[in-house]
Amino acid sequence: MKLCRFGQDRLGVVIGDMVHDVTAAQDQIRAQAPYDMRGDAVIAALPEWRGRIDEMAKSAPGAPLASVQLLPPVARWTKTMAAPTNYRDHIAEMEANRAGAPSKMGPDIGKAGIFLKANSSVIGMNEEIPIRFSDRRNDHEAEIVIVIGKTGTDISQERALDHVAGYALGLDMTVRGPEDRSFRKSVDGYTPLGPWIVTADEIADPDDIPFTLSVNGDKRQDSNTQHMVYSMRRLIEFASSFYTLYPGDLLYTGTPKGVGPVQPGDIIRVNALPQFGELRMNVRAHKIGG
Ligand code: MN
Repeated sequence: MKLCRFGQDRLGVVIGDMVHDVTAAQDQIRAQAPYDMRGDAVIAALPEWRGRIDEMAKSAPGAPLASVQLLPPVARWTKTMAAPTNYRDHIAEMEANRAGAPSKMGPDIGKAGIFLKANSSVIGMNEEIPIRFSDRRNDHEAEIVIVIGKTGTDISQERALDHVAGYALGLDMTVRGPEDRSFRKSVDGYTPLGPWIVTADEIADPDDIPFTLSVNGDKRQDSNTQHMVYSMRRLIEFASSFYTLYPGDLLYTGTPKGVGPVQPGDIIRVNALPQFGELRMNVRAHKIGG
């Protein structure tokens, strides 16, 4: 199932190039969810509701995907996690760019840990990426994103995939510079996510997802999750050894080589297996005050 959010907080199922409105399910699920729950009620309810949502989608009228504004596919989540240096070829690229100056963090994800991006930096395809520091280098990082499906902590690798609701395409945008990584990567709009969530059952092997990124039609990143230093299972085990993971939590799994700068006016496209769709983001200049 391909689950999206669109328009004014509506829930949709994508079938072909149509979006079928299943907001009635979202309304019922949210009405039953405690206000103080951690995580996203719809994602948490998916195992129970999946069949009913499928049925509703079949009978709901569809609207062409191209006619709707796609929001981030999760409405409420507790944290946006991201793996640094999780592809060896990107580590080599970072070290080369650093030109001899030693890294504070080090290239070992096991030592550097998972970092957090502000939830407020996440945007959907309905928005554009607003470049805030055009005098500095602003880089794209194409990443496959895990969407957590159920609450868990100290999750073993053996059970890790049981905690996955699905996957999506993401961009971990970065302002280059001396500030703390979390600060530089949490600028408003610097964490695009979309176009929808592909549920885990549609992905045969999450550690074998080919994906590419292009800027204005030029391919810059071209890799496969099989080249990750920490696999999907190991990332979940690692993150959950520090944090309880909640439904809807996002885990950006790292970027391969080919990271490069973007400018206002650029169009970034991230593609993977066909079921992921395409994350297409316009880049614009930030306007002071909005
Ligand atoms: Mn990244």
